[in-house]
Amino acid sequence: MNTNPFAIAEIISTTILQAVSESNTQTEYRRPLIAYTPADNPLFNRLRELVTPQHMLPQDLLPDAVSVVSFFIPFAPWVVISNTGDKEKASPEWAKAYIETNALIGHITMQIINTLAEQGIQAATVPATHNFDPVTLISKWGHKSVAVVAGLGSFGLNQLVITDAGCAGRFGSLVLNAELPYTNLKPRQRCLYFYDGSCQECIWSCPVGALHQENYLDKQLCWQQCQKNERGYLYLGKADVCGKCSTGPCACESPI
Ligand code: SF4
Ligand code: SF4
Repeated sequence: MNTNPFAIAEIISTTILQAVSESNTQTEYRRPLIAYTPADNPLFNRLRELVTPQHMLPQDLLPDAVSVVSFFIPFAPWVVISNTGDKEKASPEWAKAYIETNALIGHITMQIINTLAEQGIQAATVPATHNFDPVTLISKWGHKSVAVVAGLGSFGLNQLVITDAGCAGRFGSLVLNAELPYTNLKPRQRCLYFYDGSCQECIWSCPVGALHQENYLDKQLCWQQCQKNERGYLYLGKADVCGKCSTGPCACESPI
């Protein structure tokens, strides 16, 4: 078994960066962000208090979990701009980006799992999306929550995770039974509303009023809007997405 944390991290980061730069997709991307955190990071337990008591721990995915990898694949700015035209309907480019990036994350995680297996390392993941409870709409393994635990970003008023490359993109994560050089990223505020109250753009851009100043998302309203878009884009695949709240000043960078 390869036990060199830096060599294992190199395999992981190279796989992610290469897969994104060589992706055969219509969607274009900016450079992915990657963070590593220990599986016994106490913040994983906090997710059971903050998200759902059923939130899985890394050890639920892999009994001998040692480390967790979180990564963010940011969309190119033109994908974001495409979604600002029609006030209600998601743009076809955004719908396509959602479908293509979910598939890309699946490809990346399987490639990492297989490559690490050749090194004697076990790894596990859950799909990039559609892993939530159909009634509560809560995920038992939330890739966004895992990204916050790993220090990759912080939640904004839009209930999305704002990273240093913004919030317009998709997150993936996986758990493995080997040590990594942990990134120890410090938490910091990236949402202007929480910082100084100077922005509420995500609230204004939501076509169904699902976001509220009290830092609350009406998940059912949001989900209905996503399903409406899905019905309009059946020819593309499963595009149950909207993303109007990911087009503000925090879309492609941290505004703070
Ligand atoms: S649009 Fe403004 S208020 Fe909403 S999450 Fe982004 S920075 Fe925060
Ligand atoms: S995804 Fe769309 S419906 Fe859901 S909160 Fe954001 S803007 Fe509103």
